[in-house]
Amino acid sequence: MGRFQEKKKMKCVICHGEDIQVNEVHEELKVGSNVVYVSVNALVCQTCGERYYDRRAMRYLEEAEQKLREGKAKLQEIGKVLVYS
Ligand SMILES: [Zn+2]
Repeated sequence: MGRFQEKKKMKCVICHGEDIQVNEVHEELKVGSNVVYVSVNALVCQTCGERYYDRRAMRYLEEAEQKLREGKAKLQEIGKVLVYS
């Protein structure tokens, strides 16, 4: 976890807060008109909610996006997105 120690001292570029912790977040990826949530660990500013991804998380999201584009991802439907009219 030594790698995170250095990042813990970082300041949020948005609100300059220093309370930044590792949280599991659900990044939204759009596939056509669908939204796919991808769980990934990110550094999250506890003050404003801004997310910071390390290189590993970035690569994980890129891989997920590619799999989704290729239709290779295993997906589970948990709800629907509906439009009010
Ligand atoms: Zn912030």
